[in-house]
Amino acid sequence: MQNGSSAIGTIDTDNAGQAVPTRETARYVGRFAPSPTGPLHFGSLVAAVASYLQARTHQGRWLLRIEDIDPPREQAGASETIVRALQHYGFEWDGEIILQSASAAAHEQALQQLLDRGHAYPCGCSRRQLADVPRGALGPIYPGTCRDGCDLDETAIRVRTDDQLIEFHDGLQGKHAQRLESESGDFVIRRRDGLIAYQLAVVVNDHLEGITEVVRGIDLIDSTPRQIWLQRLLGYPTPRYVHIPVVTHENGDKLSKLTGAPGIPWDNAPAMLVSALRALQQGPPTELATSALPEIWDWAMQNWSLDSMRAMTAIQYTDCLDINPLDSLA
Ligand SMILES: [Zn+2]
Repeated sequence: MQNGSSAIGTIDTDNAGQAVPTRETARYVGRFAPSPTGPLHFGSLVAAVASYLQARTHQGRWLLRIEDIDPPREQAGASETIVRALQHYGFEWDGEIILQSASAAAHEQALQQLLDRGHAYPCGCSRRQLADVPRGALGPIYPGTCRDGCDLDETAIRVRTDDQLIEFHDGLQGKHAQRLESESGDFVIRRRDGLIAYQLAVVVNDHLEGITEVVRGIDLIDSTPRQIWLQRLLGYPTPRYVHIPVVTHENGDKLSKLTGAPGIPWDNAPAMLVSALRALQQGPPTELATSALPEIWDWAMQNWSLDSMRAMTAIQYTDCLDINPLDSLA
């Protein structure tokens, strides 16, 4: 295991190159993939801890991928802040940090493959034209207006869907299924501004990096059938998925930069890490919060279990922190 102290901006081709069918790639490969839109908050710490423990307890590799392909949403310096916070909390990733932007050629290649095979098409519909389409649980359902052609120059690219049931068995949430054509419609894989959409980029990178299991927040579970659809069209294997509960504010809103979640503190990493384990229903003993980080990680590795989170969808932020034993010492 290499220590994750390497500079951002380099790519280890052993990690990022095409997966080759060796024993090495048959091993568990997990990842944590934050977007550099702000500092790491408690919700993202919890997701990082879950994916890290799941990889390490499967003797797997754990990769760190910074999803830096949406510059309008990014915050200057956020990548460095996230990396420093992860180091400070004692995470050790394998290989170099992967910048998703470095895979731009692979994203374009996948896009072109979908276009060439007739799986994708340009869509010039304006936001206004789409304002009146029916909405489903996932948002507006694209009615397929441009399926048979679109003359405009500035277009998004959508992938064609059909109405077969796309079903997967989530490691925590059980069976999950969608019919894409009626529930989301053909969805955008390249935005009108030219940026590759999240759904396509994440599928290409998970494949390039040989990810065997994706552990992430349940807020992304509804994206998974779209990602499986893209994997099938591109001929990629589908990894296993484990969607953990999201951490919410008291009002039920997901902790995020948008809802004003603060960055995780630098001055009390052990107590925060224990709070994250509490959020993940691991039942850490109260005295663990006064231990050093390596001991906390040791305890976490020895006791890691997904079972106690089964079918849970949300964890309230204050429930994890209120019983923080250090509160009473403050
Ligand atoms: Zn259209």
